[in-house]
Amino acid sequence: MATRRRKKRLSTKTKIARAVCVLVVLLLAFSLCFTAVSLIRTLSEYMGGSSSSSPSSDLTSAPSSDAPSSDPSSDQPSSDAPSSSEEPSSDAPSSEVFVPVDPSKNTGIYEGVTWRSPYAVPANVFKYGRDLMLVNREYELPLDFEWDLVRWSNGQDVDAMSLNSAEFDQVMAVDRAAYQPLKDMFAAAKAAGVPLQLVSPYRSIDKQDRLFDNLVVQYKNQGMSETEAVAKANTARTFTGTSEHNIGYGFDILEAGNWYLTESFEKTKQFAWLQEHAAEYGFILRYAKDKVEQTGIMYEPWHYRYVGVAAAKEITGLGMCLEEYIEYLDNDRKIPAAE
Ligand SMILES: [Zn+2]
Repeated sequence: MATRRRKKRLSTKTKIARAVCVLVVLLLAFSLCFTAVSLIRTLSEYMGGSSSSSPSSDLTSAPSSDAPSSDPSSDQPSSDAPSSSEEPSSDAPSSEVFVPVDPSKNTGIYEGVTWRSPYAVPANVFKYGRDLMLVNREYELPLDFEWDLVRWSNGQDVDAMSLNSAEFDQVMAVDRAAYQPLKDMFAAAKAAGVPLQLVSPYRSIDKQDRLFDNLVVQYKNQGMSETEAVAKANTARTFTGTSEHNIGYGFDILEAGNWYLTESFEKTKQFAWLQEHAAEYGFILRYAKDKVEQTGIMYEPWHYRYVGVAAAKEITGLGMCLEEYIEYLDNDRKIPAAE
């Protein structure tokens, strides 16, 4: 009897010992996993988030970064998904760090804006006139820029500007100079059997800022650091004030009924028609396939810029982009020697 009781006691002890062992092993396994995860996180922080994102896709998938949201009326078309030709390795952490601009520098039209480009200088409205004002990664809207927007509608009426520029986000608006040419072009396209649709015209400074911020938040939620998120956002959208959509001179145009900005637009009859006729109405394809290096923006078959009929015809005839054309004008209309 005594031995059996002892055996029983022993087996209880063994059971307890086994349970403790299992617990210890489980605890060890758990802490190992935890350490591994935090190690990976730390590593990815140092390696520019390359483990959590696929940076190489930044360049090749640029068009999708410009893809509209499912709600066509909302924040869609980023204009400009810039390629990173200016910064060849945008995904690698660089010493050039994009930082939110000091709010004390937010004066004039940039009041309250967060994402101003650290690289842009004010564009010159007066150099060759408003129609030829160059706005890109290097030139942002000047602080005292005055919009002259009219409401875009499919009716015949032009609404005089009675809203402030931010309120124009609630409707479609275009610069007054581009309004009638745009209407005429749309009418001609319709008559030719290739009806067009204005997908994204003017976009306010505030809205551009929000769109940029949304992207930064989205990338941070994916595990990127602030610096990485801002750098990546800058490959998908332009900084506040550096988009042609912010002046009302840049227009995303597609075939009627389509709200989705994709490169396949170049295969449509509408695109072919625009290639042939846009200049007659004062518009140029702004970000051509063979000008990515000069514009710093990926190919956008849908983005047209109003420059006036004479300039549009000359630019198209010369096969230049706007950056090259401005340089050409700077050189007294002599084509700069190729480097
Ligand atoms: Zn655009």
